Amino acid sequence: MKIAIPKERRTGEKRVAASPDVVKKLVALGFDVIVEKGAGVGAAIEDAAFKDAGATIAKDAATALKDADVVLKIQRPIVEGDANELALMKKGAVLIAHLGALAHQEDVKVYATQGITAFAMELMPRISRAQSMDILSSQSNLAGYKAVLDGAAEYGSAFPMMMTAAGTIAPAKVFVMGVGVAGLQAIATAKRLGAVVTATDVRPATREQVESLGGKFLTVDAEMEKDAETEGGYAKQMPPEYFEKQKAVVAEHIKKQNIVITTALIPGRPAPELVSADMVASMAAGSVIVDLAVEAGGNCALAKPGKVVTSKNGVKIVGHENMPSRLPKDSSVLFAKNLLNFLTPHVDRENKTIAFDWEDETVGGTCVVRDGQIVHPLLSGEGK
Ligand code: NAD
Repeated sequence: MKIAIPKERRTGEKRVAASPDVVKKLVALGFDVIVEKGAGVGAAIEDAAFKDAGATIAKDAATALKDADVVLKIQRPIVEGDANELALMKKGAVLIAHLGALAHQEDVKVYATQGITAFAMELMPRISRAQSMDILSSQSNLAGYKAVLDGAAEYGSAFPMMMTAAGTIAPAKVFVMGVGVAGLQAIATAKRLGAVVTATDVRPATREQVESLGGKFLTVDAEMEKDAETEGGYAKQMPPEYFEKQKAVVAEHIKKQNIVITTALIPGRPAPELVSADMVASMAAGSVIVDLAVEAGGNCALAKPGKVVTSKNGVKIVGHENMPSRLPKDSSVLFAKNLLNFLTPHVDRENKTIAFDWEDETVGGTCVVRDGQIVHPLLSGEGK
């Protein structure tokens, strides 16, 4: 059975869906692994490292994909035009990637028409057993870390308190909005750099997590926050009264902050606006906002995807897209490991093939197209 890893073709994507370590494990499981030439260049993984791990290097995407039974990718394939990647895959091939299936339902239809079986890894159920397969967690963790470093790089002052012969530098005040996987890592990173950290989230369970990392929790409305979490551990859409109250509490707090990292997301909806233009106007010149939700519409009203903008009063708003790709090596290594952990339980070692257990929650939860049919309840209409 052939497993192919093509080079990512979408603009700005530096990651690759395999690491030498994962290739070695796939080869040991009995698979033929084909990596497209240069697939790891953006992540500083050379062809030679893949080759040493047991992969065959294919000269181009067409060669890598033409006989592949399974295709591992980071981003959804391009499905049209000259760069069409899907057209290079054979009928019946299995595609595993961050497909963004709910946001790109037209693409899902194309996978079905082409007879591809497709797994959208972003739909992995949030159960303990699936943590090691969760691409959203592995990538958000790195994004939270990098957001703090990006904020620090744009900030014209130091993070830690410094008592020097020439005078004392006050520690930076960092405010993290949204305490999921990215937010927790942002808190930990800002603390390590010596900042004074506060954080807020609609889910009250996060208070303890913030405090355990040495941060201070900013409560908006304890009563309304009691019912803010879905069974899956995600945030619910909050009522309008909550946002009014949140605005007032945050408006007061944000004036005094040097760095704000926003990470608030609600699955399947645009990101909530948490930092208004007026709030930005209330902050001191030189302050920095890093909006990790910029691709989902943004938490800050002034954030622009792919840009660092400076407000009239001198606040920088950082809107880098695809944050995990800014740490391409680690994010590739972890993403690849997530995919391996997903596949391994379904490997038929005797026949050296993959026989998916369709009853398994991690399979049913992520499979969007099976043998040319759209099967996911959120897409086929059943679960809407
Ligand atoms: P996410 O990226 O969807 O959202 C980021 C954070 O924003 C969340 O904490 C959310 O509550 C918060 N948020 C949403 N609206 C907000 C608002 N208006 N104001 C303030 N904050 C707001 O979340 P995530 O990082 O994917 O994690 C969500 C939860 O799922 C966490 O508890 C995490 O530990 C859990 N999780 C579990 C598993 C697993 O068990 N397999 C895997 C990953 C994450």
